[in-house]
Parts: sequence; structure tokens; C-alpha cells
Amino acid sequence: MTRMPFLAGNWKMFKTGSEAAEYVEKFKSLIADVKDRQTALAVPATALYQAVAAARGSDLIIGAQNLHWEKEGAFTGEISAPMISAAGASMVIIGHSERRQYFGDDDSAVAKKMAAALLEGLLAVVCVGESLKDRESGQTIDVLAKQLRGALTGFNPAWTQKLVLAYEPVWAIGTGKTATADEAQQSHAFIRSEVASLLGGQAADSLRILYGGSVKPDNAASLMAQPDIDGLLVGGASLQIESFVKIVRY
Ligand code: PEP
Repeated sequence: MTRMPFLAGNWKMFKTGSEAAEYVEKFKSLIADVKDRQTALAVPATALYQAVAAARGSDLIIGAQNLHWEKEGAFTGEISAPMISAAGASMVIIGHSERRQYFGDDDSAVAKKMAAALLEGLLAVVCVGESLKDRESGQTIDVLAKQLRGALTGFNPAWTQKLVLAYEPVWAIGTGKTATADEAQQSHAFIRSEVASLLGGQAADSLRILYGGSVKPDNAASLMAQPDIDGLLVGGASLQIESFVKIVRY
């Protein structure tokens, strides 16, 4: 099974709407010839409309970084899946470690958010990953298994095409420490085997699993050379067009 490489940027809480529009206009022209891989940018909610408008005429996917599982309601400060798609976006990141760490997104919230996104037809990029403490105490596999089980319990197999997983070891996010390509591959292979036992071999074979954590232009190619790494989720290095373009062209 060939899995189309997927290169996604996560801007976190950076860039206004006009900065997003300017970036996307330039970025889409710089990668216009790239047809053998998918590209995406997860932008702040306030920049969705402008990023979507700027991306028109290209294959660049624009997404949000979080959502609430309800369609609407008294949830001050939140946005829902229908609101994201009404803004013209087609993807959302769910369970990013910063959401888990600072905003209390636990496995059950991740499962509800994922279902809401997939029911709306959005591409759901669901993040899992162990902390430094987990890794040092030999818990990596157990933590990943628990997060995957938590997210994928109740998963409808019809959603498989719209799900992307991202392995993001928390100790590698924004720290400059990258998992080596071998370390990342080991975790990705484990994630794929867990997906096979939860969702079946066919789903595991077709599902894309991204690596995230201090990806830079100089480590993108070695990560992408691993058999179970199907793409990259890039935080800091996606904020500069030049470095993200280099990563897309790894
Ligand atoms: C991220 O935000 O998903 C991420 C991996 O960040 P960074 O690339 O900056 O480590």
C-alpha cells in the first residue's frame, strides 16, 4: 500500500489573518509544482478565512488546531467542527500535547473531538506521544497504547480515510531535540501494529502516521525515509516559508 506523504505545519498561536494570507499566497506559488505529496497548514482560528481564501486554486489544505465536540452551545471561547468547515477549512488537529498539557484534553475529550471532526467530514490529525518521564521510565509503549485505545474506541471504520495519526514525543516538541529516525520508526511501527489490532490490518496499512517534534529541513529526509513515517507535523519550522518549503521538498 502506498501512502501519499503528508507535510503539515502547525502554526500554534502565531500569525494574524493578514500574515497568514501573505504566507499562503507565497507558499502556494513556491510549491505549485509539487504533486506527489499533500501539504497542509493548521492556522489560528482567527486566520482561517483569510488562509482559506489565499489557498484557493491550490491543493494546500487549511485546518484548525482544535475544536469543541458540540456543534454549538454555551462554551465561551470554543469553535465547533461545523464552524471550521463553514470557514472553508477541511482539517483539524486533535489532542496536540500542548492541548493535553495546558488545557486538560484527555483521551475521552480526544475521542469526542475526533468523532465530531470526522462526522463533519474534516480530516482529523490525532496526536499521541509520550513525555520525557514516560520515556525514561520505559513507559513509551504503554502510554501510546493507552492514548490510541482512548482515541480509537468507538471508531467507525468508514472514517479511516479521514484519519491521520501524528506521533509527537512531548520531549521533542519545540525543544530542538528530535527523536532519531530509528527511535521514531520504532514508535511508528508500534502505533501501526496497535491500529491493526484496533481497526484491522487494512486500516493500519492505509493510515498515515506523521512524525512531529523539532522537524527541520536537515532532518526531514532521514525521518521520511523510514517505512512507517508517512509525513511530518511541523511546528516552529513551518513559521518561516523558506524552511517549510525545504521540508515539503525533503
Ligand atoms: C508541533 O507543534 O506539533 C511541533 C511538533 O512543534 P515543533 O516542530 O516546534 O517541535
